[in-house]
Amino acid sequence: MTDALRFVSTRAGSAPVTISEAIRRGLAPDGGLYMPTRLPAVDVGALRDAAGLPAVARGALAGFFAEDPLQPQLGGIVEAALDLPAPTTAVGAARDRLFVLELYHGPTAAFKDFGARFLAETLARLESSAPRPLPHMVGTAGDTRGAVAAAFHRRAWARVVILYPKGLVSPRQEQQLTCWGDNVLSLRIDGTFDDCQRLAKEAFLDAQLSGRHRLSSANSINIGRLLPQMAYYAASSMQVERLTGAKACYVIPAGNLGNAFAAVWARALGFPIERIVLAHNANRTVPDFLESGQWRPRPSIATLASAMDVGNPSNMERIRAQYPTLHAVRAQLRADSVDDAAIRARIAADFARYGRVWCPHTATAAEVYERLPPQERHEHPWVLVATAHAAKFNEIVEPIIGRQVPVPQSLERLLRMPRHVRDLPATLAAVGGALE
Ligand SMILES: *Cc1c(COP(=O)(O)O)cnc(C)c1O
Repeated sequence: MTDALRFVSTRAGSAPVTISEAIRRGLAPDGGLYMPTRLPAVDVGALRDAAGLPAVARGALAGFFAEDPLQPQLGGIVEAALDLPAPTTAVGAARDRLFVLELYHGPTAAFKDFGARFLAETLARLESSAPRPLPHMVGTAGDTRGAVAAAFHRRAWARVVILYPKGLVSPRQEQQLTCWGDNVLSLRIDGTFDDCQRLAKEAFLDAQLSGRHRLSSANSINIGRLLPQMAYYAASSMQVERLTGAKACYVIPAGNLGNAFAAVWARALGFPIERIVLAHNANRTVPDFLESGQWRPRPSIATLASAMDVGNPSNMERIRAQYPTLHAVRAQLRADSVDDAAIRARIAADFARYGRVWCPHTATAAEVYERLPPQERHEHPWVLVATAHAAKFNEIVEPIIGRQVPVPQSLERLLRMPRHVRDLPATLAAVGGALE
C-alpha cells in the first residue's frame, strides 16, 4: 500500500494539498512554493532496463502521484509530454569521460519544453474534469515564454499571455514569441524587461483582473515543471553508469535553479548522481551565498546567457526548505560564476577543440567544468547540461565561431510561421484591456 503524498508550502502557512492541487495552484496561497512532505521511494534498479524517457519518468514520478486523481493518467501524461529525445552524448575521446546532456531537441529547442509540456498535459486532464473559466498562463521571463506558448498552443481550455519589451529582444527571439496566434496573445510592450515583469506582477495582484481571467504564472515555481525534469537526470545518470561504471557528476547552467533542483531530487531519489555543480553567469547571488552564508538577492545584470539573468533565484526557497543549514546546502551543491568574456572564449575554444557549438548558457557549464581541479575532472565522468540549441542565439554565437549555426527542424518551423502581435503602452489598463 502506498500513501498519498501531501504537498506543503515552503512558508508553512498553507494547508497541505494533493499533487493535483499543487500543480493547479502553482504558488501556495501564502506565497510559498509547494514541496512534498517526504520524497517517495523509487525502485531505481527496476528502472535500469526501462526504455525511453517516458518509461523512466513514469517509474521515477509514480510515488509523487500515488492515490491522486491523476495517478491513472500518469502514463498518458508522460507519453504525450516527454516523448522527446534527451540524449547524453560523448564529447572528445572516450577516455575523457566527458558528456553532454542535450536538452534542446524539443519544439522550442530549450530544456523548458520538458516542464512546459508536462504542465500542459497535466492541466489538460485537471481542467477537463472541472469546467471553469479559461486559465491564462502568463509568461514574461526568458525562453519560458516560447516553451509555454508551444505547449499550450491550440488547447481550447487555456490562453497564454506573453509580454515582451519592444526593441529589446533579437529578431529571431521575437519571431519565437509571436509565431503562435490562436489562443496565444503576444503583447509587445513599449517599455523595458522590468516594465513587463512589473505589469505581470500588478496583474496578479489586481484581484479583479486576476480572478476574472484566472491568471496563473507559468514560471518554474510550479512543481509541475520541476517533476518531469527529474526524468532526464534519472535516464542520463543510469546511461552514464552503464557506460562508465561510475556515478555521473553534472554541471548545470543555473538561473532560477529549477533545472538544478530537479537534479538534486533525482539524486535524493537514488539515481546514480555523484556531484552537482551550478554554473552561473555574472549574476552571483548563489555562488556568493555558498561562499559567505549570506543570502543577498539583488537586481539582475544583463549577460550573454540571458535566460540565467536572475538576481533572486526563486527555487532557492525550495533548496533552503529542504536543506535548512548552510552546511547541508553545501553538501548538495557547489557553484561558480562566469563572465561574458569567458562565455565567448569558451564557445570559441570548444568549437575549435571538439567541433561542438554551445549556446551561451551551455558555455557557462563548459567553462565551469574547465575550471575544476584536473584531478576532480579525471576522477569521475562529467556531464555538461546543454540547456538550449546554439541556433536560438545565432546573433551571439555565429560571430564567435565565424560560421552559421544550422537551424534544427523544430526551430525552422517556428521561424516560418506568420507573426501575431499587439503593441501596447506599459500600463496595467492596456494589458487589462487586451485580455478582454
Ligand atoms: C531557463 C534557462 C536556464 C536556467 O534554468 P533555471 O531552471 O531557471 O535555473 C538556463 N539555460 C537556458 C537556455 C534557459 O532557458
